[in-house]
Amino acid sequence: MKLDVLIVGQGIAGTIASYQLINKGYSVGIIDNAKQHLSSQLASAIINPLSGKKWNQVAQFDKFLRDSLSTYKGMEQLINQPLLQPKNHLYFFQSKEEQLVAKQQIKPEWFTISEEKAFKNINSPYGYAQIKHCYSIAQDILFEKWKQYIAQHYYIENTLFEYQELKHINNQWHYKDIQSNAIIFCEGINAINNPYFKDLPFTKNRGDVLYVNIAELDNNYIYSFKDRLVPIKNQLFWLGSNHTWNYDNLNKDTQWADKCLHDLQEQLPYGIQLIDHRVAERPTTVGQKPLALIHGYHPNLGLLNGLGTRGYLQASTYSKILLEQMQL
Ligand SMILES: Cc1cc2nc3c(=O)[nH]c(=O)nc-3n(C[C@H](O)[C@H](O)[C@H](O)COP(=O)(O)OP(=O)(O)OC[C@H]3O[C@@H](n4cnc5c(N)ncnc54)[C@H](O)[C@@H]3O)c2cc1C
Repeated sequence: MKLDVLIVGQGIAGTIASYQLINKGYSVGIIDNAKQHLSSQLASAIINPLSGKKWNQVAQFDKFLRDSLSTYKGMEQLINQPLLQPKNHLYFFQSKEEQLVAKQQIKPEWFTISEEKAFKNINSPYGYAQIKHCYSIAQDILFEKWKQYIAQHYYIENTLFEYQELKHINNQWHYKDIQSNAIIFCEGINAINNPYFKDLPFTKNRGDVLYVNIAELDNNYIYSFKDRLVPIKNQLFWLGSNHTWNYDNLNKDTQWADKCLHDLQEQLPYGIQLIDHRVAERPTTVGQKPLALIHGYHPNLGLLNGLGTRGYLQASTYSKILLEQMQL
């Protein structure tokens, strides 16, 4: 089989790179082994303009947002499914100091602050901020339908990519019975095993995620209390997450889960039913810089990785940068 580009990995990085290539008229194939503990599938999958608790705008947010919206809207048309939903994000201050930090921002064009002591039935002694320009992405639909779309129109294989089977002959890449002009690696944390991109500053961290059912909570909002609560489907919410850098296993952190549920219950007047507890690993780099790189000797070999905590926001821009540089 002859392809323009073979992509290894179908997390958010590989999914978006494949869409952008198809949009430019290239033929693509994807090899993905659908590993457990996938970062992209367990993410809250929201786009949020503000960074951390300091109320700074994410650097170049306008550019990231423009590229993301264009990508997700383009994909919506191809798979004929809604993916992107604008959502108001309510951030409930946990202290007077937190509220002051938000108020001191010189240009609070991204949020408005309410001094009200409650939002609907939710207690809010220090008021809350309403953050604008947030979106949630239906990641279950995105991955499933995109996989189907690629299977129908291009090529997708659900197996482990074996690096030792890759051969470079006459500037073409040969992998088993596939011949491809170019290859893009999007393997998330598994890139550490990639012999073509050695010595890059890959790191990873783990995050626990809870799925909870809250029958009475308005699911039109994303909520931030001590942790974040994101509506997924009907009354099912994503609740999380922690960031653990030093770990030697992916066992559930039940102590964190108990505290998370306890903190949420303190703030919400509704019953919370725990449905599931899962653990994911985020692909990051030292210095938290995403990597959109071309191999030193092979301009038709690329890597998109290290998207950290903002894969859903940043993947489109970094994929675009990579494709502009690569020999395709
Ligand atoms: C708890 C949590 C919450 C998050 N929330 C958000 C959020 O709200 N917004 C946001 O923008 N980002 C969020 N993120 C970050 C985001 O999920 C990551 O940036 C993103 O998932 C990274 O995607 P990726 O495609 O690089 O890697 P991955 O999702 O890990 O995908 C890599 C893929 O490659 C496949 N693969 C690897 N090696 C091979 C091989 N040899 N052969 C075949 N297949 C292979 C894997 O099976 C996998 O499918 C969150 C992350 C976590 C963990």
